[in-house]
Amino acid sequence: MPELPEVEVVRLGLQTHVAGRTIREAEVLHPRAIRRHALGAEDFAKRLAGSRVEAARRRGKYLWLELSDKEALLAHLGMSGQMLVQPEEAPDEKHLRVRLRFDDDGPELRFVDQRTFGGLALDDLNEVLLPDTIAHIARDPMDPAFDLDAAVRALRSRRTEVKRALLDQTLVSGIGNIYADEALWRARLHWSRPTEKLTLAKGRELLTAASDVMNAALGAGGTSFDALYVNINGQSGYFDRSLDAYGQEGLPCHRCGTAIRREPFMNRSSFSCPRCQPRPRANSR
Ligand SMILES: [Zn+2]
Repeated sequence: MPELPEVEVVRLGLQTHVAGRTIREAEVLHPRAIRRHALGAEDFAKRLAGSRVEAARRRGKYLWLELSDKEALLAHLGMSGQMLVQPEEAPDEKHLRVRLRFDDDGPELRFVDQRTFGGLALDDLNEVLLPDTIAHIARDPMDPAFDLDAAVRALRSRRTEVKRALLDQTLVSGIGNIYADEALWRARLHWSRPTEKLTLAKGRELLTAASDVMNAALGAGGTSFDALYVNINGQSGYFDRSLDAYGQEGLPCHRCGTAIRREPFMNRSSFSCPRCQPRPRANSR
């Protein structure tokens, strides 16, 4: 799954290159790419033809095009999904799944997905212009309307480990494994700390750290898309230079020099500093 800063780069690209244009036709080249659209390819294409793209929107890591007629074209990027803006004459990509042509005969929007875990689907917009299927997703810490204290209260009301709460998209959205580890490192919290023991101040520090680290990633990665090309897998270089915890096993902590440790976490890994982020005592719950 791409993380929030990568999704935001794609959203910005779509807003720049696609918003304000009217779709002339949609071509589905692989049925799997629209499997989440229950009514099938014909319905998908029929409903998109003539729709105007009002804006490119995002909630957490969920991305959609807001269309006229209170509809949304939701993009699930999966592991390898890309949204490409390409001139009509550009040869088809090997893994091109869906193509949108516009009535201005300008560049096409192409959904390319090698592993076909991703896909596109049409959804209705609710009264606050959120697609119905993601209306339960919370705001992310980079959202201008994000309510920090409300999010901290929600976090503390869950009786769970702090990293599990950070990854729960209904509490705070947009934080994946990488930015969770980075935020926990900045706030000097071990991932298994119980949420109900977090002070209000520590909770604020943690979510502010999550926002800061994602903003920094966006600053590092958001500069490479001004070409007519929007690429979810465009490596920002951020991961090589700027991570303090994630993927840093055995390397010295940038704060205290202790070797970063890796621990198993929900079929994945958690990276932390043994000294800055001590494990909670066993009886602390
Ligand atoms: Zn340390």
